[in-house]
Amino acid sequence: MTWPRGASAGPEGVAVPVPAPAGAVAPGAVSGGAVAAGPPAGAPVPAAGAAAAVAAGWSVGLDVGGTKTLGVLVAPDGAVGPSVRLAARPGGDGVAGTAAEAVRALLAEAGLPAGALAGVGIGLPGIVDPATGRVEHAVNLGIEAAVPLAAHVQAALDGVPVRLENDLNVAALGAAHLLPDPAPDLAFLALGTGLAAGLVLDGRLRRGASGVAGEIGHLVHVPGGLPCPCGQRGCLEQYASGGALSAAWPGPGDRPAPVALFAAADSGDAGAVAVRDRFAGAVAAAVRVLLLTTDVAHVVVGGGVSELGDPLLRVVRARLDDEARDSAFLAAMHMAERVTLAPRGVPVGAVGAALVGRKES
Ligand SMILES: [Zn+2]
Repeated sequence: MTWPRGASAGPEGVAVPVPAPAGAVAPGAVSGGAVAAGPPAGAPVPAAGAAAAVAAGWSVGLDVGGTKTLGVLVAPDGAVGPSVRLAARPGGDGVAGTAAEAVRALLAEAGLPAGALAGVGIGLPGIVDPATGRVEHAVNLGIEAAVPLAAHVQAALDGVPVRLENDLNVAALGAAHLLPDPAPDLAFLALGTGLAAGLVLDGRLRRGASGVAGEIGHLVHVPGGLPCPCGQRGCLEQYASGGALSAAWPGPGDRPAPVALFAAADSGDAGAVAVRDRFAGAVAAAVRVLLLTTDVAHVVVGGGVSELGDPLLRVVRARLDDEARDSAFLAAMHMAERVTLAPRGVPVGAVGAALVGRKES
């Protein structure tokens, strides 16, 4: 997923986010520099009901990845404010230090004291325990053994409450918050190196009994098919992820595999068309599984592959329509209409993390 870069701060500094017309989603307006100069034009505003359920105060959400930490300040009414982007530092101390630095930068930019914060939420990869605030096996972050990250960051911020959540889950929460219409039921389908979905049902995260709800990448899609690191063969993830595309279409290397593949298919390369269509079929299968198991109103496609934009949406919707053509049952589900792309230019994961920070999860 493409996160916005922070725009250079304007001379007037950061203003308190101003609510925009309901339903508006910020375009890719935020770019460059360390800290954005206020809310992107058209920043979304939550439904009144959602705002009413939120703990009072501002919150900061952080989306921590292997190369960068993206932070955003969210106003008490849920409006999305300024953002900050910092280079990642590895290890528990590095991640905690960067997180605290991002929070301080946002507070300074907005002229707010730490006491104005209801909380800080952090979304990150690895095995995250929201109850204890510990993370382990976050290989991309240089974290192996369990680290009490929430406690470390909380101590660095003089006691501001800090909560952790899985990065996919915060993306799902953020996507639900940012949709033009209130979305109490939503699946966020991440097409990244792997394939997995985050689920928001009845307005709350559905983590599952053991935290694997939405791990549909390991449903068998092709019996006896490609081997998967999970030990099975033919897992959906081997056909419907960015990693799968890179393996199936290595390309010339000067462009991301998905972009090169779709361009080749558009130019009539029969091999590329076959790979693209197989990919579209596998993504459509993922969407179908999510709709049939959860009946969510929206399946929002995110992750690196979603940067393809409308061409991706087009082939997936076409495949879903093809499947519905022979089935009155599937046709009645209106599957294609329920698939959308994650908003671009908006820090979806960081926004969701901010909601976690104020217990809206
Ligand atoms: Zn697998």
